[in-house]
Amino acid sequence: MKLDEALAERFICPKCAFKGAEVKRFAATGTGLSRLFDIEHNVFIAASCKNCGYTEIYNPEILEGKDNLGTVLDLLFG
Ligand SMILES: [Zn+2]
Repeated sequence: MKLDEALAERFICPKCAFKGAEVKRFAATGTGLSRLFDIEHNVFIAASCKNCGYTEIYNPEILEGKDNLGTVLDLLFG
C-alpha cells in the first residue's frame, strides 16, 4: 500500500478522534541552509484531519523505508 493512501485511510485525529485525513506532500524549500541540500531530502508529508483541520507532518523517507509500515501505523493510530 502506498504511504499516502495508508496515511489518509488510517489517520486518526489526536484532537477530535475523527478518522481519515487529507494527505499532501510538500517540499520544504527556502532560503539559507536548506538550499545547500538536495531538494529530495526536504519533502514532507502532511496529514490533515478532515474534520477539524489539525495537521501532522511526517517524514516520508523514514516511513517508506519501513517494510513493516502497517505495524508502524498501528503504533501511531491503534
Ligand atoms: Zn480533528
